Amino acid sequence: MAGKRNATGAPAAPPRERFLYDYGKGSQWRSMRLRVALGFPSTYAAGMANLAFQWIYHLMNREPGVRCDRFFMPEPGAGPAHVSTMETGRPLNDYDVVAFSLAFEPDYPNMVRLLREGGVEPFAEKRTGPPIVIAGGVAVSANPEPVAAFLDLVAAGDGEPLLRDLIEALRDARGAGTRAARRDLIARCAALPGVYAPSLHEVEYRSDGVIAARREKPGAPRVVSAARLDALTEPAHSPVVSDGAAFADMFLVELSRGCPYTCRFCLTRHIGRGFRAAPGPALAALVASGSQVARRAGFVGTAFADAASMDAACRAAADAGMRVSFSSIRLTRRVLALFR
Ligand code: SF4
Repeated sequence: MAGKRNATGAPAAPPRERFLYDYGKGSQWRSMRLRVALGFPSTYAAGMANLAFQWIYHLMNREPGVRCDRFFMPEPGAGPAHVSTMETGRPLNDYDVVAFSLAFEPDYPNMVRLLREGGVEPFAEKRTGPPIVIAGGVAVSANPEPVAAFLDLVAAGDGEPLLRDLIEALRDARGAGTRAARRDLIARCAALPGVYAPSLHEVEYRSDGVIAARREKPGAPRVVSAARLDALTEPAHSPVVSDGAAFADMFLVELSRGCPYTCRFCLTRHIGRGFRAAPGPALAALVASGSQVARRAGFVGTAFADAASMDAACRAAADAGMRVSFSSIRLTRRVLALFR
């Protein structure tokens, strides 16, 4: 049976978390130039098992002057709650930016509920001040329109190439206290590659729900291309290992992004933007670090068995005495030989 949950979505008895990094932010609040509440619209267990969510948490917190705190859905049946972040207990409307990592479309209604219960007006056009509400992740990168009414901005594609510029553009978010100031800020952000502002585009639908026409407003880009990271020189990995995550005591590492195959049913084929494998030495070093905080290594990627660097990651895990799990794997002769 699920344990009792508090309004942050974390278990009432705090899960044991081990941090790989000390961001040095502690309880600093006033001195932070940008305060971000980062949400995963599902349970704590699911969110802390999601590498994209964890990686964005790390990328933001390592930026000077940026504070990023987490929040999750209360457990089903927990009733109405005042949603607040785990790290500070503050409601979402205390933050300059509320960001969501959206991996699955069925979680979209949860995003709206979290906004409402966190004290943030769910509809973007009705907001008159901070926070700016942003979403990124595979689901919303593939098709942002189902949640366009609730979002000020969508960060489409890989997060790494656009995050620094977006953070810089958002540093004035706290001062955007009027509709006009919000509009200006959103337009500045939308000028960045990979950033889509739904309010700057008009979308018309046919009666069967298919898009009939799309027009950009003056000054908005006609086409927004998803950002693409050219090489996985710094592979994504868990900054936090939690006993309360669905993959408890597991250090997640991204072995590859994209996929060299073209299965017609697969979203990766359409949005994967090419296969990129992480370099073996970087993976081996990361796995060695991860062994300080976890007893298991979780290797994340698509067809990473095609990359020779998988051998380096597996050997590093074996050397560190870690057990290994894979997100999925295509069995090839090379993989079978490695497992033997
Ligand atoms: S990720 Fe798997 S299903 Fe998708 S294209 Fe690659 S091999 Fe096919």
